[in-house]
Amino acid sequence: MIVVERITDLREQCEAARRADATVGLVPTMGFFHEGHRSLMRAARANHDLVVTTIFVNPLQFGPDEDLAGYPRDLPADIVAAETEGVDVVFAPSVPEMYPEPAVTTVHVAGLTDGLCGAARPTHFDGVTTVVAKLFSIVGACTAYFGRKDFQQLVVVRRMAADLDLPVEMVGCPVVREPDGLAMSSRNAYLSTEERERAIHIFTSLRAAAAAVGGGERDPERVRARVETEGARHGLDYEYVEVRRASDLGALESINGEVVVAVASTVGTARLIDNVTMQITGAEVSVDFGVITVAEQESTS
Ligand code: AMP
Repeated sequence: MIVVERITDLREQCEAARRADATVGLVPTMGFFHEGHRSLMRAARANHDLVVTTIFVNPLQFGPDEDLAGYPRDLPADIVAAETEGVDVVFAPSVPEMYPEPAVTTVHVAGLTDGLCGAARPTHFDGVTTVVAKLFSIVGACTAYFGRKDFQQLVVVRRMAADLDLPVEMVGCPVVREPDGLAMSSRNAYLSTEERERAIHIFTSLRAAAAAVGGGERDPERVRARVETEGARHGLDYEYVEVRRASDLGALESINGEVVVAVASTVGTARLIDNVTMQITGAEVSVDFGVITVAEQESTS
């Protein structure tokens, strides 16, 4: 595995691979790896000749009062993890490497970025699409792996790639969860023990939503209220709870087809997001919470 910091070096690695008829799998991240990130690397490793992981805490996607300065970082540990997952190239640029000048050119995906996380973070998705467009431009033709944990981000980036005819195939990978159901996130590092226990109820309230739909509820507002109530019962204050069409985050009159229940809640200082997707065909409901990891056995020796 090699670690590169220069755009020209990453571009050359990817171009050389394609010249040799190798395929490129790309995993963009902000680092501080957990199993969620590693699952994307494994998916890319299983399907491509050259696997590239990028680690860049992108200032453009943080608002002025957000956690850019305190965002958890551990590049040495990330390099070890990437190597363990069989990554070929880690791209870890500096901020001046990515933005030698203030970015006056940005990418904006209209509409899809207005609601959900976009409502409270009005500049966030422009930051994401701008940096991802740069990464797609540097890497070139590839398959990019994104987590369904950041469901709106996946929908937004997929639309950007389609609208701009970028030569990138997008793959959405399952949400990876802790054994108790909490979605893995680098920001979970901010949680105290008490906050961590409260945060679990993000998952249990999504489970309540799935149970309601499984029991025949088809009214989005009632499912939304169910999540709010379940969260509130455990001291969770939701920034939003939305029940939307999964393909384009459109509003629903009735729950049918592929639907996402997406939430955000700030617990302590950690703004956490999560979702569950469901496929509803008549009375049949198939629920996708992603992957719940198994607790490590405690050593008995
Ligand atoms: P981040 O470093 O948080 O920007 O995340 C980098 C990529 O990892 C994004 O595509 C995320 O959606 C994905 N990711 C983060 N957490 C998880 C998770 N728990 N399960 C699956 N993918 C995740």
